[in-house]
Amino acid sequence: MDLLDTLTAKGLRGEVPTREEALAVLATTDDELLDVVAAAGKVRRRWFGRRVKLNYLVNLKSGLCPEDCSYCSQRLGSKAEILKYTWLKPEQAADAARAGVAGGAKRVCLVASGRGPTDRDIDRVTDTMAAIKDADPEVEICVCLGLLSDNQAERLKAAGADAYNHNLNTSENTYGSITKTHTYADRVDTVQKAHGAGLSACSGLIAGMGESDEDLVDVVFALRELGSDSVPVNFLIPFEGTPLAKEWNLTPQRCLRILAMVRFVNPDTEVRIAGGREVHLRSMQPLGLHIANSIFLGDYLTSEGQAGQTDLDMIKDAGFEVEGAGEATLPRHRADVAEAVAASSCGTTASSCGTAASSSGTAASACGSGGGCGPCGGHAHTPAEATTAEGTEAAVSQDDELRSDLVKVRRRGAGTELAPNA
Ligand code: SF4
Repeated sequence: MDLLDTLTAKGLRGEVPTREEALAVLATTDDELLDVVAAAGKVRRRWFGRRVKLNYLVNLKSGLCPEDCSYCSQRLGSKAEILKYTWLKPEQAADAARAGVAGGAKRVCLVASGRGPTDRDIDRVTDTMAAIKDADPEVEICVCLGLLSDNQAERLKAAGADAYNHNLNTSENTYGSITKTHTYADRVDTVQKAHGAGLSACSGLIAGMGESDEDLVDVVFALRELGSDSVPVNFLIPFEGTPLAKEWNLTPQRCLRILAMVRFVNPDTEVRIAGGREVHLRSMQPLGLHIANSIFLGDYLTSEGQAGQTDLDMIKDAGFEVEGAGEATLPRHRADVAEAVAASSCGTTASSCGTAASSSGTAASACGSGGGCGPCGGHAHTPAEATTAEGTEAAVSQDDELRSDLVKVRRRGAGTELAPNA
């Protein structure tokens, strides 16, 4: 198929496809699905081999958020029966992090609900990072605390943070439909603040909120333009007690097409299958590994994932290997771009100040979350507007309303007396 040959050739060169080509990936049929996965797999292996990076979520503060993100079980007015607790003590968080690292995680993601941190919260997270790095100096730490004020990113960087996650979640056009208490521009500003302070920028999306193909392509290109170093792809977990509880718009096939589109637009960027992996990809999860090079190990912020050992077995059975602490995640030229942005501390997008060095020279123009302010979920249009090329999505949505049994609230790990799942 010409489209896939073109996308593969571009991806192997680190080039970004056109918007029309990205839309065409989402419009492929189920008969073409394995060809799409194979093409995206070639691009994935070019830049990331068979490595899978494992990330481990620690929810430092759960629920009771004053923001109104309609996809999120921790939102203002959420009736979801999730764990609710205030800040974990540093040693409690470090214990949870240690379990994730022992399970094979290379990166620990420290997440707290809320609009954004106070300076006192930055102090708390600083103490927590010290406790984690005392035990394991090599572990990468990504922090996700919401919207950042001036100098907070610099403080986190100085305290040892490696990355900051703040997802764009959906397109600029539809952002106001999922959240009223802050704006798309606020989110872009925080990603830029993080990148400008020299933190690796982790920023992704949530699919399945009723958005159109155009919305998905818009947000994925925006993430490339923003220079996100890792792109978590969340599939909405429709939590009972949130406005999007009935939004079962995804099929495993649709999820694979979305992952492939994200990979083609971000050929040399870490692409992570984030929240909703088990719920929506189900038995097709191993095919997702052929596209994405990163997943969360174990549980999510407020919902349970499959057993950590099952994650490890799946990786091995599919012929992949867990990325080690000493291995670089990003290809060298992408790491160079990140370092150049950090050195310039310009805080602007990679497309305006980056200096890509890919073979094509275009790479530079190009954190859920499972991330706290990420892997929880959102809404823009009615579910009926979300359609595949075959027009089957609405029918699948009705069938899938029965699958709400797949969403299991987290009752173990951080904030409980029970051992973490890692
Ligand atoms: S996504 Fe983050 S800011 Fe939005 S409601 Fe959830 S915890 Fe609050």
